[in-house]
Amino acid sequence: MKRMTRRSFLEGVAATGAAALAQPACAASSQSAPAAVRRAPAPLVIASANGWRGAARPGDPAPRPSAVEAALARLGDAQVAAGKYGLLEAVVAGVGVVEDDPEDHSVGLGGLPNEEGVVQLDAAVMFGPTHQAGAVAALENIQNPARAAMYVLRYTDHALIVGPGAYRFARAFGLPHAELLTEEARRLWLYWKQRASERDDWLTPPEEDVDESTRQASSGGTIHLSALDARGDLAAATTTSGLAYKIPGRVGDSPLVGAGLYCDNDVGAAGATGRGEEVIVNCGAYAIVAAMRRGLEPEAACLETLKEVAEKARRRGLFQDGKPSFGLTFYALRKDGAYGAAAMFEGGSFAVADAATGVGRLERCAWVYDR
Ligand code: ASP
Repeated sequence: MKRMTRRSFLEGVAATGAAALAQPACAASSQSAPAAVRRAPAPLVIASANGWRGAARPGDPAPRPSAVEAALARLGDAQVAAGKYGLLEAVVAGVGVVEDDPEDHSVGLGGLPNEEGVVQLDAAVMFGPTHQAGAVAALENIQNPARAAMYVLRYTDHALIVGPGAYRFARAFGLPHAELLTEEARRLWLYWKQRASERDDWLTPPEEDVDESTRQASSGGTIHLSALDARGDLAAATTTSGLAYKIPGRVGDSPLVGAGLYCDNDVGAAGATGRGEEVIVNCGAYAIVAAMRRGLEPEAACLETLKEVAEKARRRGLFQDGKPSFGLTFYALRKDGAYGAAAMFEGGSFAVADAATGVGRLERCAWVYDR
């Protein structure tokens, strides 16, 4: 059965909002079409679709916060840009917008919990100029795991800290203890648990006791964000609550350098959202950057890596009706300002903000398989 992920749900919604989508010539390509070439002036930020939330809705007191715009604004701030790690700070501030958003059930506060109802977060950051990485995994009670990952990068000679050690590390740097399971996320988890098995003692609640939003809930998600500053330096971050209702301690691709993100300051940055296990076993983000180093355009590099993942998935038995049984989206940003993204299935979008416009937008992803 094809799993509905937070990502595919979000992108499905975004894709239907045609007015919200900027679609440059040749933006959408299918398996057989040539990959699109897109380029924008630095500073330039790209992210998964939850990195841009659209313009203010009628009645909103202020525009909805947006990760790509927050990161771009930091990059435009001369003081931030001048700091050694200003670019990294900008990336962390960008994804922090989504980590702080209780309505996004795929990241940080309000993220969907593991099977025991405990929110466990994964995040990684990578900084091109020094080729450093920092990551945390299975981290509980810290709302901004990407910031904790940045502290790993800046203040330790390690690359990845997990579990209770990661919590104590984050607390040592002053990140507050937080209850991350919101009331809504708890309701979604409970509904999942009540329906998880016919053979346990939990009874499935009658339909009339369950509201539509609970029934429609999806099971995964993440934000990946990559940035290029005016100096031509690159940084990236990926942060997530991972697969909803996962086995406690499960770690996905997001905090794994080379899988959920990778950055080579001489070439470009890349990241992934979607089924992490497939990204891990194919070194997804590393493969995309390696493809760009060989000369592929960012979108073409994403498509090539997706096809490789699909081919391997066929061998792994993760195929149904001639298509992979999972969703995946790759994002790529090259050092010269070329960028692109591609999804396993038609209908995806990704977020962009650049120096020319200063505001965020969604663009369509290329894709490998029609829906
Ligand atoms: N890649 C994330 C993970 O596997 C989940 C997602 O992006 O949907 O943890």
